[in-house]
Amino acid sequence: MLRQFGLKKSPWVVHFNCNSCNGCDIELLACLSPLYDLERFGIIHVGNPKHADVLLVTGSVNHRNARVLKNVYDQMPEPKAVVAVGVCASTGGIFRECYNVLGGIEEVVPVDVFVPGCPARPEAVIDGIVKAAEKLDLRRRGQPVSRPSLVPETHEPSPKPAAPPETVPATPASPAAPVAAPAELAKTP
Ligand code: SF4
Repeated sequence: MLRQFGLKKSPWVVHFNCNSCNGCDIELLACLSPLYDLERFGIIHVGNPKHADVLLVTGSVNHRNARVLKNVYDQMPEPKAVVAVGVCASTGGIFRECYNVLGGIEEVVPVDVFVPGCPARPEAVIDGIVKAAEKLDLRRRGQPVSRPSLVPETHEPSPKPAAPPETVPATPASPAAPVAAPAELAKTP
C-alpha cells in the first residue's frame, strides 16, 4: 500500500534527447532548477531507464536514433508512460519532412502526453509529467487509460527576474597627482 502511494506521488523520470535543437532540453533543465524545483512534487530525474517510470523525449525521431529510443523505452519497467516534450517530439516540428526524419516519436513508441510549445515551457512540462503520473496510477490499478493527452497551452510567461538594485554612482575620482618629471629630464637645461 505504502509502495503504491509512493509510486503514485513520486514518479521517476528519464530524459532522452532524440534530435532536439536543445531548446526544449534547456527548459527541462529549468524544471530542475530552484525556480521550478521539480523535486518539490516528488518527481526525481534519474539517469537509468531501468529505474524510471516516465520517459521524457525531446526532438524528432530519425532513422538513426529510432532504434536507440526504442531500446531506452524497452528497458523501462512496466507500467510506464511517455511524454513528448515540444512540437518536434510531437510531430517532427521544424525537422518534419527532412530526408532522414521519421516524424514525431509516436512513430516508434506509444505516447501518453503531448506537451506543446517550441520550446515547451517548464510549467507545461511539469503539467505533462503530472498527467503521465495519473495515467501510471490508472495502469497500476488495471483501469483503462485514455491516451494520448494534450497539455493545454495556457501558461503565462514566467515572471521576469527582479531588476537589479540601483547602483550608487561612483564618487568622482580625485584629481590625479602631478607626475614627477624623470630625473634625466629635470637636469636638462
Ligand atoms: S520544439 Fe522547438 S525548441 Fe524544442 S527541440 Fe524542436 S525546435 Fe527546438
